[in-house]
Amino acid sequence: MVKADAYGHNAVLVSKYLQELDFIESFCVATPLEGKELRENGIFKNILILGGVLKEEIEILNQYNLIPVISDFNQLEIARKLKNRKIHLKFDTGMRRLGFYLENVDKIKPLLKEFEIEGVLTHLSSADTDREYTINQIKEFKEILNLLDVKPKYIHAQNSAGVVYECDFCNVIRVGLAMYGEKPFEDYPIELKQVMSVKSKIISIKDVKTGDRVSYNGSFVAKKPMKVAIVPFGYADGLPRSLSNRWFFLVNGKEAPILGKITMDMTIVDVSEIENVNIGDEVVIIGESGDKRITFGDIANIVGTISYEIMCGISKRVVRCEKC
Ligand SMILES: *Cc1c(COP(=O)(O)O)cnc(C)c1O
Repeated sequence: MVKADAYGHNAVLVSKYLQELDFIESFCVATPLEGKELRENGIFKNILILGGVLKEEIEILNQYNLIPVISDFNQLEIARKLKNRKIHLKFDTGMRRLGFYLENVDKIKPLLKEFEIEGVLTHLSSADTDREYTINQIKEFKEILNLLDVKPKYIHAQNSAGVVYECDFCNVIRVGLAMYGEKPFEDYPIELKQVMSVKSKIISIKDVKTGDRVSYNGSFVAKKPMKVAIVPFGYADGLPRSLSNRWFFLVNGKEAPILGKITMDMTIVDVSEIENVNIGDEVVIIGESGDKRITFGDIANIVGTISYEIMCGISKRVVRCEKC
């Protein structure tokens, strides 16, 4: 899964790396333009478009050899304009987003003769929270495959949370979050390594006096003389503004609390208690510093969302690099 710029990691960088691995069969993106970007940057393995296709987008699919996931009768009609007629068929077994229903199978069957069904899939809506519901989804998917009477090369249902469930008739998985090193739920039984760190460097350091108001609107007032560092990383970089006065960065392996409002381009942190802090020093926003570590999940918990949203929210302005 390299949709949403590989969950914020840079889809080209990630796909180039993954493409060299034998067990990677295909790349999945949400939109045709995401697929085009990969093709224009040297990705030659299969690319699936998961988010549905509009009729005016068929040309891009033909031009860049992208495979659509077809999920309703309108999509199936549009897909007749595909040069190679190669598609994956998606069934809705409980998500109520994209996908045909089990009841549609009879009507679909005769229409499939025109196509090469390379894959059949469904999407698990609650693999991270609901065992019974998930098992029922997989059961229904199996029933659909039996009724469909096609022999696709790929059968897939499992996302990151879903890989802990058995699907013995599936032969590939669509793994996103876990591949990037973040657990989809608390007791995830697979050990993971975080792929991306998010770092900045101190741009300025100054002293503030007792009573000084720090940042916009004075939501933090210094109770004592403090030393603060200005970090050029703000909400436009993907740091949720709601972390203002509630979170910290890591500097020299120590916590540097965020003071006052996070601004668009900068955040002010308290480094009074941290020794030997200099301009240009590394600031860790996500990742490790000394024996401390901050994950996307940690930040998501504070602001009340999921790690996915923080991860793919790291904005374009933040330079992605392989070893830096
Ligand atoms: C995003 C997505 C996935 C991957 O989900 P993760 O939880 O990140 O592993 C799999 N399938 C579909 C249809 C998706 O949209």
